[in-house]
Amino acid sequence: MKEILLCKYGEIVLKGANRRYFEDMLAKELRYRAVSFGNFSVRYAQSTVYIEPQDELCDLDGMFEAARRLFGIAGVVRAAVAEKNMESILATAKAYLPPFLAGKKTFKVEAKRSDKAFPLSSPEISAQTGGEILSMMPRLRVDVHHPDVTVRVEVRDTAAYVHAGQFKGAGGLPVGASGKGLLLLSGGIDSPVAGWMMAKRGVKLEALYFESMPYTSEQARGKVLDLAALVARWAGSMQVNVISLTHIQEELVKHCDEEYFTLLLRRFMMRLANRVAALRGCESLITGESLGQVASQTMQALHVTNSVAAYPVFRPCIGMDKEEIVQISRMIGTFETSILPYEDCCTVFTPKHPKTRPEPEKVEAQEQKLPYDELLEEAYASLETFYIRAKF
Ligand code: ATP
Ligand code: MG
Repeated sequence: MKEILLCKYGEIVLKGANRRYFEDMLAKELRYRAVSFGNFSVRYAQSTVYIEPQDELCDLDGMFEAARRLFGIAGVVRAAVAEKNMESILATAKAYLPPFLAGKKTFKVEAKRSDKAFPLSSPEISAQTGGEILSMMPRLRVDVHHPDVTVRVEVRDTAAYVHAGQFKGAGGLPVGASGKGLLLLSGGIDSPVAGWMMAKRGVKLEALYFESMPYTSEQARGKVLDLAALVARWAGSMQVNVISLTHIQEELVKHCDEEYFTLLLRRFMMRLANRVAALRGCESLITGESLGQVASQTMQALHVTNSVAAYPVFRPCIGMDKEEIVQISRMIGTFETSILPYEDCCTVFTPKHPKTRPEPEKVEAQEQKLPYDELLEEAYASLETFYIRAKF
């Protein structure tokens, strides 16, 4: 018996005239992901992408998980393929459904007939399939309101499909549909989640990591590249830009008041991010900030950093509790890497009493004490770029 995947679209069905464009994007990305799992045919019709293994060697389980990580897909169904006649549909139901029904008490059958030339109506298909299931598993009962299992029979253009469970997909919009964003990616828990959340809204990601060697280590950089690779499993391949802040931090310590270190550093980060975004064609910046989480994430502190940004800054974690961020980070698979104990540049010269209500003029006055443009130029010149190819 042949099993295939049916991927159901999410919000793109609402997108009217652009729909074809989005469907093409999704099918193209699924074809790309499928290469890692064998020889599959990927095509779309009737608001569904069909992923069909072409030989016995295909890894359908692997493809299933990869499809569930694709933004723009709301649900993925594993289905058995039947010929378009009742005999084949019933035989397929009999062979395919027992594992889904084992140990269950109630079920119902829902049939959908998008091929109106099929001789039976949907209720007739449901009734016959239900009867076949009852004769095979007589202890089951039909419950049309709250069944334990819903069996579905879909009669479509070239075949009929029998299945008994839809799995949630990643939802959201296809990556790229909303433009490109530069994710300020640290080694922490929050920024990978922030990147994932914006990718879910269709943003193609590019990453920027600031390090401060030798105060931060080679392992800290490795960890960030690993995090980028984990996010790429959902969001697709991305470039990670790395900039050194070592000299900037040393100069800050020499010339500026300690309570401003973090804020001044964050303004440097934003200004450098502006330049990288312009270089790479990004139309937004993305950070993992969450209101009130630390001193640099009060409204006043955010205002001070935000005011030097040349692009909209998306902070999807802003209204989330740490626990909620952790939950997403576990679900997307970044948590275990995020908690590895390597230092971040923000933690190397942290003030004992950081300003939580900074006044913009005072921050600017601190900046006057530095050879600001030279420091920016020098840091920007340290830019290195790594290509992280997504492994699905
Ligand atoms: P995270 O868990 O993402 O590290 P955080 O709670 O540690 O966040 P901060 O250290 O204040 O918070 O950083 C706030 C945001 O600034 C981060 O979410 C990230 O987007 C960005 N950021 C901080 N440090 C770096 C860094 N070294 N490189 C790139 N971006 C950074
Ligand atoms: Mg951090």
